Amino acid sequence: SRVKVMELDTKPTITFEDVGGLKDEILEVREAVEFPLTRPESFERFGVVPPKGVLLYGPPGTGKTLIAKAIANNAGVPFLRMAGSELVHKYIGEGAQLVRDLFQMARDMAAANGGVVVFIDEIDAVGSMRTNDGTSGSAEVQRTLMQLLAEMDGFNNRGNIRIMAATNRPDMLDAALLRPGRFDRLIKIPAPDAEARMQIFRVHTRKMAEMGSLVGIDYDELVHLTEGLTGAEIEAICREAGMLAIRDEAEVIDEGRFIAAIRKIRHQDKDDERPDI
Ligand code: ATP
Repeated sequence: SRVKVMELDTKPTITFEDVGGLKDEILEVREAVEFPLTRPESFERFGVVPPKGVLLYGPPGTGKTLIAKAIANNAGVPFLRMAGSELVHKYIGEGAQLVRDLFQMARDMAAANGGVVVFIDEIDAVGSMRTNDGTSGSAEVQRTLMQLLAEMDGFNNRGNIRIMAATNRPDMLDAALLRPGRFDRLIKIPAPDAEARMQIFRVHTRKMAEMGSLVGIDYDELVHLTEGLTGAEIEAICREAGMLAIRDEAEVIDEGRFIAAIRKIRHQDKDDERPDI
């Protein structure tokens, strides 16, 4: 099971071209995570200490993981991911051991490759505010969090292990995680506005356009019809529009298929909200 909780991508291929919108946010993350790896001497010269850890927060499916991978790619270092949710519901002591394994792997990767980007997704699963119910489950989660804090305290801000984390629930986080020397830089990754949705549609229709398979697409209308949807949902819409064309054995993907796809994804989302019976 230990193989599954950690995801290692030694040569990530995602680039900033694959991310729609988020220009200011990307620059902020680059300054905090990438530049300390690619030009550490600038930080030395100006006596600037980079943040130890960067926390991306915002709704799910908005590009947090994408950005972390693009940063690793740009810096030419491996990307190492662990999901906080995979650290809970483990046997006693196993969560803390997995955290130790993660940081050991990070040190090995950094030594062999000149650096590493560590990305802890859903950090709220282990880093939520302390509960007082005294159950062994939460005590185990506490031990996992303590191990994470100890690991973060154990290395240098200027080092080549760059730590990122993501959460949809920043309000839930234990203050200990946000102290200086831990996740001391918070960057909001918002749901996409109209301009960003336009760019996300461009990203996910790029291949279709290159193949000449798009006809009569009204991007302004698509942007208008996807108000309130995320990047992940727009990606799903583009895939679905392609699937509809394949099903119809059509030559091209037209506006109607995108509109049908939007309708379908919007309905799916509504179905997801229905409680299980
Ligand atoms: P979660 O909190 O659920 O992990 P996340 O913010 O990390 O969400 P990602 O994994 O980065 O979300 O996004 C999921 C998929 O949605 C991506 O692989 C990508 O295809 C698409 N996507 C999300 N945001 C964007 C974006 N801004 N530009 C282009 N594609 C996007």
